[in-house]
Amino acid sequence: MHDDRTLVEARLKRVLDERLRPAVYPESVPMDVRVWTAPGEPVPVAEGLAAPTEPIAVGAAWGAPWATSWFTVTGTVPHAWTGRTVEAVLDLGFDENMPGFQCEGLVYLPDGTPVKGLNPRNQWVRVGAPVTGGEQVELRIEAASNPVVLDYKPFVPTLLGDKETAGSEPQYRLARMDLAVFDETVWNLILDLEVAGELMHELPADSGRRAELTRAVDRALDAIDLQDVNATAGAARAELTGVLSAPAVPSAHRISAVGHAHIDSAWLWPLRETVRKVARTASNMTALLADEPEFVFAMSQAQQWAWIKEHRPEVWAKVTKAVAAGRFVPTGGMWVESDTNMPGSEAMARQFVHGKRFFIDEFGVDNEEVWLPDTFGFAAGLPQIIKAAGSKRLLTQKISWSRTNTFPHHTFLWEGIDGTRVFTHFPPVDTYNCSMNGREIAHAARNFKDKGVARHSLAPTGWGDGGGGTTREMVAKAARLRDLEGSATVTWETPAGFFAKAEAEYPDPPVWVGELYLELHRATLTSQAKTKQGNRRSESLLREAELWAATAAVRAGAPYPYEQLDRIWKTVLLHQFHDILPGSSIAWVHREARATYAALADELTGLIDDAQRALAVDGPHELVFNAAPHARDGVPAGGAAPAAPGTPTAVEPREDGGFVLDNGLLRVEVDGRGLIVSAYDQRARRETLPPGQAANLLQLHQDFPNMWDAWDVDEFYRNTVADLTAADEVTDGERPGSVRVTRSFGGSSVTQVISLDGRRVDIATEVDWHETEKFLKLAFPLDVRAERYAAESQYGHAYRATHTNTSWEAAKFEACNHKFVHLEEPGWGVAVVNDSTYGHDVTRTVREDGGTTTTLRVSLLRAPRFPDPETDQGRHTFRHALLPGATIGDAVREGWFLNLPERVLSGAAEVAPLVTVDDDAVVITAVKLADDGSGDVVVRFHESRGGRAAATLTAGFPVTSVTVTDLLERPLAEPERPGRSIPVTLRPFELVTLRLGR
Ligand SMILES: [Zn+2]
Repeated sequence: MHDDRTLVEARLKRVLDERLRPAVYPESVPMDVRVWTAPGEPVPVAEGLAAPTEPIAVGAAWGAPWATSWFTVTGTVPHAWTGRTVEAVLDLGFDENMPGFQCEGLVYLPDGTPVKGLNPRNQWVRVGAPVTGGEQVELRIEAASNPVVLDYKPFVPTLLGDKETAGSEPQYRLARMDLAVFDETVWNLILDLEVAGELMHELPADSGRRAELTRAVDRALDAIDLQDVNATAGAARAELTGVLSAPAVPSAHRISAVGHAHIDSAWLWPLRETVRKVARTASNMTALLADEPEFVFAMSQAQQWAWIKEHRPEVWAKVTKAVAAGRFVPTGGMWVESDTNMPGSEAMARQFVHGKRFFIDEFGVDNEEVWLPDTFGFAAGLPQIIKAAGSKRLLTQKISWSRTNTFPHHTFLWEGIDGTRVFTHFPPVDTYNCSMNGREIAHAARNFKDKGVARHSLAPTGWGDGGGGTTREMVAKAARLRDLEGSATVTWETPAGFFAKAEAEYPDPPVWVGELYLELHRATLTSQAKTKQGNRRSESLLREAELWAATAAVRAGAPYPYEQLDRIWKTVLLHQFHDILPGSSIAWVHREARATYAALADELTGLIDDAQRALAVDGPHELVFNAAPHARDGVPAGGAAPAAPGTPTAVEPREDGGFVLDNGLLRVEVDGRGLIVSAYDQRARRETLPPGQAANLLQLHQDFPNMWDAWDVDEFYRNTVADLTAADEVTDGERPGSVRVTRSFGGSSVTQVISLDGRRVDIATEVDWHETEKFLKLAFPLDVRAERYAAESQYGHAYRATHTNTSWEAAKFEACNHKFVHLEEPGWGVAVVNDSTYGHDVTRTVREDGGTTTTLRVSLLRAPRFPDPETDQGRHTFRHALLPGATIGDAVREGWFLNLPERVLSGAAEVAPLVTVDDDAVVITAVKLADDGSGDVVVRFHESRGGRAAATLTAGFPVTSVTVTDLLERPLAEPERPGRSIPVTLRPFELVTLRLGR
């Protein structure tokens, strides 16, 4: 026969759009609408329900950016509808393509009982099925007029991202507020046709199954009377029964659908709005679970659960009931779905401690899977942390966003820096917003890299980013796809249920070693510098606060601030969410983050001060408190004592207006341009810098990526560069032994102070930044030939190549470090340490003299204009240090020193550390009291150099028992016999937590 495929497909599309969808609600009557708009921020539910209202007409404009309007809609079900199914259809002025990115609502009964959320894909509230007629309907809607920040013309700078700049122009027009008859047969016909039509599209043009579907669709369309769709929909459905009941082939791919709503804890909306987004989605999902017996919904991020519990107790009651039934499933085990590149070792651990503990305490659920669908890359230290938290599986789909290389597996073992392996799954559906579209289902099956040996994949199903969740249409399509010829099969499942099947069918999956680098969003290591600094400072201050408070509790009987530390940790962890710490949120979020970090710094400094005063007592001695994990200037790690004087630095002028700094260990020449032209290691008798090249060189690039401005830096940024070599002034600094350099460029200025501290060249940089779409780098060309370099990560470091032999290496043109980057030739190395920057790049050239220049560049500042048009404008301070002759151990130690400056107090006597270790390779990352309030001391440490360590840990107090625990301080073994000296043997990068009983 003739091929009429495209004709039938076009026919299907038009009939669906123009005749079937409008026929779902064949009859309707308008409801009466009244409104009250809250004067400022959202109000409690009771206040919104009780507020005086005024009439508003459908079609009227409403909703200033970020405002809240409380609508009251009332109506009477016509008696003529007796026996029919009736719904309220509530359209706030939605654009159906943007669920979660525009206005939203939560529907309540007049008594405040939450009913369900409203979004573009969920505009209905069931009134009765069947109705008796004459029912009085009254609903209340808490409607948020969140503006559209990201739309069809994406990445255009906008002032809508902060209520302080967004103005008051109404954003929406009330579109429909009706009571309507719901024709379930038409609704089902639409889903039948969508499933058949979408599957048809995905099958090969020459397949018999496709032809069968085409013919069945054609027959179904023939059966519809286009002038009376509602009367003929049943007959049309009958034509599809045969093709929709043909079972899947035995080798069909098997999809575990997990109901989900990826909700960004802040992004194009402020934190306070996420509190409400979560309540809306959770209300929708508890309602859907009640209607759909096979459906399962999973929600991650303990913080979001805690928000429901605290702010929406009525929603919480429904959620906990559904959890008890095993259908609303807590998944993952982190406080938020954080970034995993930048959080420090302890913070990454605490994401799991607080996340898992919440689910254990509230529900008795101890998850083994880590749920991070949207995080921008995964540091190689993570597997060990996952395991130490008592988990063993990871899910993400984000690596499918890589622009250069295609990851070779979807199910595999991921091996971290210490050798820990976690079972990892990348859903081949390549989205966390699966909608059960045939294209997505077919893509998952085709894309799955492990076919032949494995058959299961997971599909997170539901509207996400801004929330919304799974719809009844998705559930209906999943039912049709349960066992359907030509398609992958679909079954609702919990994440744990999926992983159990995936592990069982694939006992020997392939292994991927090292970081899971996302070849995109590399600028998230730099954008919003103050948010990143706030994170790093908070991490350091928390370390200090725990250390000194624990020491004061044991030594001086001071009260330990359990609740304060718990709250502060959770706040810091929240801000590590994958759009806050990465700098990709609207201005409002980052403005609040800066204020929050400042308040935390004050509070933590107060805690530290209280503890140190309790320890020092009043006295005449100048005591230096050393919170670093290594002894410094004669002060033991974790103790306080008078410090030995440092090495003085002589400063001599150079003929060109520069200066020479010399402390007997290093001789550093700063030229008349303020650049470091020599850094001579006097012990090794070796120059650090390549001949004729200068370090401490600020470089300015144009930086206008093709999209995702705050997220992305595209490789072509390197094509143009301005070296900032002109100095306004180079003088010997106000502080003895230092040189001060000032420069101006564009609308900006920089002041740097260069000084020596032992074997460290310290560079303090203050930038007054007023550029647009620029990238500022600080360059250190080094006379070192090395195939690879090390960058610190959680509980260790990971290596990356200095060359670009393959596309995998070339794609890592901007990467993450924690406190140091280190490279070396055998016997001699060099490091750059920092107090708050994360982005860097390393390149290499071979010189005419045959030597190799390896250039390390630190990323200081960017100036993207979306989503925050004023990103990074203003004053910034950074501290970096160049370490000529540094081993990895030196880099580790100096990194800690730079991040944990000494605190000086006058006191009566020295303070001995609570815990000491006799091997500098073993780094203690946390000393604290146990979270259970027992008074036990918890010590966490790891091997920091990538080698083995055999050390003795010594407690400075009587110890009644020593227990190896997991991160949650749960025992992993029987307590060992007491003793102050504890021998420990560690593998490379091995992490250990000990609980010391008192
Ligand atoms: Zn996200």
